[in-house]
Formats: sequence, structure tokens, C-alpha cells
Amino acid sequence: MKFYSTNNRGNTVDLKQAVLKGLADDGGIYMPDQINNFSREFIENLGDFAGSPLSKLAFEISKVFFGDAIDLDELRVICDESINFESPLKNLDKQIKVLELFHGPTLAFKDFGARFLASLVKYFAKNLKQEVTVLVATSGDTGGAVANGFANTNGVKVILLYPSGKVSELQEKQLTTLGGNVYAIEVDGVFDDCQRMVKQAFLDQDLRNNMFLTSANSINIGRLIAQVFYYFSAYAQMKASFGRKFEEVIFSVPSGNFGNLTAGLIAKKMGLPVAKFIAATNVNDTFPKFMETGLFEAKPSIKTISNAMDVGNPNNFPRIMDLYSGDIEKLRKNVWSKSYSDDETSGAIREIFEKYGYVMDPHGAVAYLGIKEYLKNGFSGVGIILETAHPAKFLDIVEPILGKVVEMPEKLRTCMNKNKNSVKMSSDFEELKNFLINTSLSNNNPHR
Ligand SMILES: *Cc1c(COP(=O)(O)O)cnc(C)c1O
Repeated sequence: MKFYSTNNRGNTVDLKQAVLKGLADDGGIYMPDQINNFSREFIENLGDFAGSPLSKLAFEISKVFFGDAIDLDELRVICDESINFESPLKNLDKQIKVLELFHGPTLAFKDFGARFLASLVKYFAKNLKQEVTVLVATSGDTGGAVANGFANTNGVKVILLYPSGKVSELQEKQLTTLGGNVYAIEVDGVFDDCQRMVKQAFLDQDLRNNMFLTSANSINIGRLIAQVFYYFSAYAQMKASFGRKFEEVIFSVPSGNFGNLTAGLIAKKMGLPVAKFIAATNVNDTFPKFMETGLFEAKPSIKTISNAMDVGNPNNFPRIMDLYSGDIEKLRKNVWSKSYSDDETSGAIREIFEKYGYVMDPHGAVAYLGIKEYLKNGFSGVGIILETAHPAKFLDIVEPILGKVVEMPEKLRTCMNKNKNSVKMSSDFEELKNFLINTSLSNNNPHR
């Protein structure tokens, strides 16, 4: 299968290039040039997967996209090693369910995409005969998931840039305690500085001549496909409990850059029976405004309590337009979108706990608001909320709202007890450049 740039359908590359480049040369993002349907029979029998590890379903789905580029036994290994955790479906009540996407190593749904991409890069790096350097700027969450996926991998080095003092203590521990092939660089600046330095590195001719740089950023097609898996898993779990007769679901997706929603739309295109997607946002409402008015107006982001969705210019928007050939009427048939304030989100966290005894994180709470409003219009089917992070990742927000202690999972506690290990740096690109050149020359030297 080929992958084309959203800026030019004629600009196609193979999977290896799409994964290692991340972004097309013309600035577009990659899309698969075919999205094949599963058979009716496959969909009707999805319930059979509910008792198996998610990696089995992951293999069936990734085969559709990557089966011609990767040997199937190797692809199975990639699925088994990266998707080594589950996405259980929990009940709030008869009509509203929660798909828990936080059972990966960093307790956020970004583990799916980041780990799967890491395995793909590892696979392609094996044949490159050159060390691959993954260079990532992170504002907190994504970096941890990416670094975790690559930790202890031969032939791959990860360099993470994060703004000093601008990430939570927990996030910083997740970024700085992996060691080995993962280098955390603490930049004296803001996230935009980190991003600028990374961008400059990709354009620097000396660096390009000396090392193989790749980005693993959020728009990489390898990350997107891994997010298709859990939509099928949710449906499989519904089929398993409600039987063959069960037909349609709606999904409520807490959205920022809209990668998660895009993956859902791809799942639908592959034949998953989804009656509607709800794209719920915080006050960063570029997308809901677009759905209302037909005008896409990027804005500066506004800080909220669901901060992983503080995005004013969602970077997957071109993919969504592409899937619907730019036809907003068709998109409106499949997607309904709404924006909610922080007060409404806090209220939802409280309501979900009081009504159902369930502790929801701020992002999942935004999705809950979307589904609750949508169900008022009389939809009688089942609604599934994507719960994208474990509430303990947002203790400082959730605990005061609930007035109670949120239990911290073992994985987070262990990480909090480790010692931070970072390289301090100014926001001057030359300093990063020297660091990159030195570490690539001294591959076998432990850097600390
Ligand atoms: C990244 C993130 C989101 C938003 O997902 P998009 O794919 O960018 O729309 C939602 N919740 C959490 C916890 C996240 O980390």
C-alpha cells in the first residue's frame, strides 16, 4: 500500500518512508491510499476477539494497511510487543460505557500510537545499518509515551526536549527516569523553543549528513493506525456481551489534535458500525465552530483543566477533510461536535463520581458532557466514552474537585521514586547541535 500526502495525492511513498519521514516534503501529512472494508462476516464475528489479547485484533487491522510491506510473522511480533495491554470497556449504566485507554505504561492512550510506532521504527531501523535518532519536543505527555516505547532498543536513540519547569513533576519523572538510550534535555525556555530547536535540527545540513533523524511526532501515520485498534476492541466487547443482534454504537471522543477522532473515522470506513462520533472539546473550539459555520479558523490555544486538548489548530484536520473529500455535509452526518467550559468539566467529574462512583479524568469528563447532551436528543443506542488518561495523572485537578484522595497506580508510584536524570541546555540551537553531534560520535559511551 502507498501513502499519499494530504497536500498532493500524487505525492506517494511506501510505508517505510511514511514512518521514518513522518511529514511529507510538501508539508502535508500521510494517508493510506486505500482503506479496505472488512467483510460483514468479520464484523459480525468480532465478539470472538473479546476474549483474546488486544494484540490479536491489532494484527488483523494492521495487516490491512501494512501486510504487503512487513512480513506477517514480523508484524505479529510488532503487535504483540507494542500492544501488550488491554482496553477494557466498563459500564457507567445500561446506556453509557467507558472505554479505558489508560492501561499502557504511561497511563494514557498515547501509549497505543507511540509504542506501535516505536516498534515500526525499530523494524525499519534494523535494515538501515545506521543508528536512528528519534528527536522529539514534548510539552509533557507524548514524550513519555514515545520514550517508553523506544526504551532499551538497539540501534535507536531517543532525544527528548522539554521546557524546564513547565511540565508536571510526574511528567518530568516519566521523561527523565528511563536512562539507557533515552536522553532527556531540559531546555531553559518554553515548549515553542523546544519545537523550534527540533524543527531546525531537521533542516540542518550537517546533522542530516551525519545522522539519521526521525521525529515520531503525533501526525505520524504509524501512530494513527494503532488508534484504530481500540475502536474495534470496544465493539468486539459490546458484541460479546450483547450477542450477534447488537448493531450500532456511538463514540464520544475528547479531542485536541483530532488524531483520535480521525482513527475512529478510519475504523468506520473499514466497516465498523458506528452511528455517530461526538467530537467533544474544551473551550479550544476551532473544530466545533467549523462544524457549525463551515469556516476553519485556527486560534492561539487557551489553557484549560483538560490541557492535553489545549489545541487551537488541530493538526489532523487535513486528514478529516480528506476522508470526506472536503464535503462538510457528509462529515456532519457522521460527526457531531461541541465545546465545554472548565466549570462544566468540573461539574461532570463530580456528577460522574456521585452518580456512578467512577473517577474520571478531565479529558474523559469532556467526552461525558458530549454524550450526555447528545443522548438527550433521543438516541436509544449505546454510547461509549473514550477515557484517554488515568485520573491519577491529573491529581491536582481531580482531587480538589472530588474532595477525596485519588489512588495512584503502582506504575506511577514506582516512577515517582526514581531519580531525575536530565541534560540542561539553553534554548540556543547551536548547543543542541553540538550535543547531537557529540552523542552520535560517542555511541558506545554511556552519557552519564
Ligand atoms: C492527546 C490527548 C487527547 C487528545 O487527543 P487528540 O488525538 O489529540 O485529539 C485527549 N486526552 C488525553 C489525555 C491526551 O493525552
